[in-house]
Amino acid sequence: MKIVVLPGDGIGPETMAVTVDVLQAASKRFALGLELDHDITGHDSLRRHGATVTPALLAKVRAADGLMLGPTATYDFKDEARGEINPSKFFRKELDLYANIRPARTYPGLANRLGDFDLVVVRENTEGFYADRNIASGGSEMLITPDVVVSLRRITRLCCERIARAAFRLAMTRDKHVTIVHKANVLKIGDGMFIEMCHAVGREFPEVRVDDFIVDAMMAHVVRAPQRFDVIVTTNMFGDILSDLTAELSGSLGLGGSLNAGDDHAMGQAQHGSAPDIAGQDVANPFSLVLSAAQLLGWHGQRKGLPAFTAAARAIDDAVVAAIAAGEATRDVGGKLGTAATGRAFVQRLLAA
Ligand code: ATP
Ligand code: MG
Repeated sequence: MKIVVLPGDGIGPETMAVTVDVLQAASKRFALGLELDHDITGHDSLRRHGATVTPALLAKVRAADGLMLGPTATYDFKDEARGEINPSKFFRKELDLYANIRPARTYPGLANRLGDFDLVVVRENTEGFYADRNIASGGSEMLITPDVVVSLRRITRLCCERIARAAFRLAMTRDKHVTIVHKANVLKIGDGMFIEMCHAVGREFPEVRVDDFIVDAMMAHVVRAPQRFDVIVTTNMFGDILSDLTAELSGSLGLGGSLNAGDDHAMGQAQHGSAPDIAGQDVANPFSLVLSAAQLLGWHGQRKGLPAFTAAARAIDDAVVAAIAAGEATRDVGGKLGTAATGRAFVQRLLAA
């Protein structure tokens, strides 16, 4: 498996260095034959190539089996024509990474107020309310008069169907329970279609239990009893909001891994951003990116029918649980180690397991 590695800005270089060591250790232990191709994005690339992403980088990523993307500090970006492109948004669109898969779980040894839970939010990643230049490719906001804005939300049968299928397939590898989250009482046609397509796909998976909740009520249910849920499938904006809630409930933003997956490509990416306040201090928690890398290996293993990759993904997940329980972790999750030392201890644990 060939993976392009882009460390990005802020805490990206530190956490990606750990992630690369973990991938190499997993490759050794499970004989994965990983090939890591290191390149640059974010402000490094903007300085050197005049753009955060170049056509050559896109071609390289297209030809690879996967991408590990670090965070980009986009707050000062104004003009895409000046190369100030958000790489995350760019790759999601160019590679049609329609499923944003965001696990959230609690960890033994880490305090949480709600009891143990283990769920995954599967968020549609390509349409809905998220602004693009024209409605045909995603959605848009329009200034109708200086005082009136109209926001359009695109929902298509195809995108509903494919995100539903991603959710049900995932549920088959977990507790076989899918919860559809929507606002069909207000967005009757769009979310009506979303629910209809989720149930239609669900009929192909008779072993999977299906229920649905209106998004506002869902927020209350998640806060009250997150252990009721396994796989949650929803449209773009609801998934954005809901997955931040579930990540926070699970303990630390530094534990939130995510995968952006399409039919042919996938990109591992931490749920957090570049965290400039702690960059370069050797305190960032690398596990969010490490867990994202595990998701990428698991995705490849499932898609290609390669059990060694699935086993490697599981071993990394298990080692994160064990490392946190043993306190071999950064201070945000109760440990005493720095980023690099957390990585070294983790690699030893993974190789020894
Ligand atoms: P960006 O603008 O790139 O999104 P941000 O300032 O919003 O950056 P985030 O990365 O989204 O920062 O995180 C918010 C806060 O959570 C950070 O300021 C940081 O203190 C903390 N945080 C985020 N990621 C981690 C991590 N991996 N380890 C430890 N703390 C983290
Ligand atoms: Mg942020």
